[in-house]
Amino acid sequence: MRPGSGRAVDEMYGLMQEHALALPLVLRRVERYFGHKRVVTGRVGGESTATWAGVCARTRRLAAVLDRLGVPGGARVGTFGWNSQRHVELYLAVPCSGRVLHTINHRLFHEQIRYIVDDAADDVLFVDRSLLPAVWPLAESFTSPRHVVVMDDGADAPLPDDPRILDYETLLAEVTPFGGEFAIADENTAAALCYTSGTTGNPKGVLYSHRSMVLHALLLLMTDTFGIGERDVVMPVVPMFHVNAWGLPYAAMLCGADLILPGPATRPEELVSQLERHRVTFTGAVATVWRGLEPLLAGHDLSALRMIICGGGAVDDALSRSYERAVGIPLTNAWGMTETSPVVTVSRPATVHDDLDPDARRAVIGSPGPAIPLTELRLAGDDGAEIPWDGVTPGELQASGPTIAARYAGEELPGPAFTGDGWLRTGDVATIDAHGYVRIVDRTKDLVKSGGEWISSVELEVAIMADPRVAEAAVIGVAHPRWGERPVAYVVPKPGAGLTSEDVREHLTSHVARWWIPEQVIFITEIPKTATGKFSKRQLRLQHQHDVSPEE
Ligand code: AMP
Repeated sequence: MRPGSGRAVDEMYGLMQEHALALPLVLRRVERYFGHKRVVTGRVGGESTATWAGVCARTRRLAAVLDRLGVPGGARVGTFGWNSQRHVELYLAVPCSGRVLHTINHRLFHEQIRYIVDDAADDVLFVDRSLLPAVWPLAESFTSPRHVVVMDDGADAPLPDDPRILDYETLLAEVTPFGGEFAIADENTAAALCYTSGTTGNPKGVLYSHRSMVLHALLLLMTDTFGIGERDVVMPVVPMFHVNAWGLPYAAMLCGADLILPGPATRPEELVSQLERHRVTFTGAVATVWRGLEPLLAGHDLSALRMIICGGGAVDDALSRSYERAVGIPLTNAWGMTETSPVVTVSRPATVHDDLDPDARRAVIGSPGPAIPLTELRLAGDDGAEIPWDGVTPGELQASGPTIAARYAGEELPGPAFTGDGWLRTGDVATIDAHGYVRIVDRTKDLVKSGGEWISSVELEVAIMADPRVAEAAVIGVAHPRWGERPVAYVVPKPGAGLTSEDVREHLTSHVARWWIPEQVIFITEIPKTATGKFSKRQLRLQHQHDVSPEE
């Protein structure tokens, strides 16, 4: 109230309509305005095309199926799926009907999947038929899911004879579609859940709200973010189980872009042909995917592409240069985390970069860039004090904003990943220049990012040391031309054990996922330690740079 104005007390507040920022707004928009636009899904041996109108109609059926299965409001609905139309239907029906969409990475090790499904207490699971062989063997040990709904993607994986197994299309055909208006009264209601690997211990759940997801979708449309609009043909190669495919499906719905979903057709030849055939204008994936496509670029017309996001890790300049030559545009880097919805920075050359030569401009585009609106960043030193934005002094990157997690699912209070004043500690070490352009220079979290997926070095060490022939083991991540990073194990064998690197790898096969197993096992007499007796990974990284022999 303005002092002395005599206005009613309620005019301390603006007099605008209180309207929940919730996903039904997105659904209504794509249904009403963009019903004629396309959603294409790659299938085993072909592809299928639907309109957004068709997708929305099936979404209404799916919401009725969830009711019929008795899935309570607020319950978690787990998905194991490729990027597909049906997964989009789940993206809409589950949160818009008041349940929580829980996307699960089927590539995780069995123990992690089991933990995640139980921790989330998923009431029902939706599984692509081609992924059933990976998921069904675990079904006996899941405690919560009452049903497993199979989405037939053309794979010939056998269907178990079990009363819990239901068929997606049969269920959809049997119900009367939900005919009302989807409504979420409180915009802070949980909408989606995604687990992320911690350095140690179990994966942690990040619980997105309707509000955070709507804001994130809007932010992706901004010109200086991805600038996605109705004329775009958007192809998320980034999996729909990874932070909602970076929010791209919701952004496409909000503005009515065509959506091209690769389905299980994710081999480089298949991806490049989809990009070409559908005249895709906007796409996003991790560097390993773009590296896989690089040799095929010359044989395809990808001239419709206006932006290729290479996120989740650093962009290598040689790769970006290849794209610039072959496609006409370099790779654009973006930084984010599961905890940050995920997009926080996107690099767009600003007016201050106008005088740069092409190589320097490509370097700007290939680095994380400045924060998009609404998220604030800061750098903190070891003592917690803020570090100036001088472009050279590194500090821990911390983030705050309405699309950033406040704490993990199941935590009463924010844990050590959050500062006392509520900012997210990212575990990345960065510099920020005077114009806000971020560069990632190191990582404090003890994780290795291989092909866009996390490997916990601490868990690998524990698994290696579970072998009685091993005295000590430490794992570091090293740069790798294909996967971005790979783990390298330094192992101290027990005297007389006669251990070989093959023995170590063989032992690991029953402890961790196959892709976690280090190609390189290096035997040493002692792991270097810090003053407090911890493994000195920094020392080990330096040592690795000097190591000449690649094996043993
Ligand atoms: P995730 O939660 O799996 O999406 O992983 C997030 C982490 O990936 C970040 O904390 C960084 O360590 C890494 N990361 C993401 N984007 C970038 C980037 N543009 N450059 C370097 N590292 C990145």
